Amino acid sequence: MKSNDPAITWVPEPKLGLAGKMYLPLVVQGLTVTTKHLFSPKMTVSFPEERPTIGNPLIYRGVHRLNKDEQGRVKCVACFLCATACPAHCIDIIGAESPWPDREKYPESFSIDELRCIFCGMCEEACPVDAIELTSLFDLTGRSREEMIFDKEKLLSVYDQTKDAEPSPMEREAAAR
Ligand code: SF4
Ligand code: SF4
Repeated sequence: MKSNDPAITWVPEPKLGLAGKMYLPLVVQGLTVTTKHLFSPKMTVSFPEERPTIGNPLIYRGVHRLNKDEQGRVKCVACFLCATACPAHCIDIIGAESPWPDREKYPESFSIDELRCIFCGMCEEACPVDAIELTSLFDLTGRSREEMIFDKEKLLSVYDQTKDAEPSPMEREAAAR
């Protein structure tokens, strides 16, 4: 295509005054934005000294927990629905015959690789007995990859840690009665 092609629309260069040539309008525009942000409410916190507030902990997707029933037993019935629904394939369950008469199976071993997890919440959605939930704990740390694979005991301990602030659906129902 040649420069004189009629399909080309040429835009004339704007005529700048002295202020424009010295970038004064743009400097004022930039300073206005900076001043506005200096006096607007802060959205950041000095973590970990300060902790951010979670709007609704019940719908936050943080570290998982395995819920316990009224008798303190793991609620999971080893149906594998969460592991099947998990798009990141980070749930590993070994089911075994249940030692209790009210269910057929229980998880002999249950682990979640928190480093592979994408915190989508599909496992929680899939569980038919509300045994797995995501909590509002978000500061996950570990010194090795192995430490970030949460086993059954660790997932149950997250339940103990969060149950008062974030009761399970069963506990919420019981409290509403
Ligand atoms: S939150 Fe999503 S990615 Fe993480 S374990 Fe559950 S289903 Fe898998
Ligand atoms: S946590 Fe829920 S969905 Fe996953 S195996 Fe246990 S009962 Fe099934």
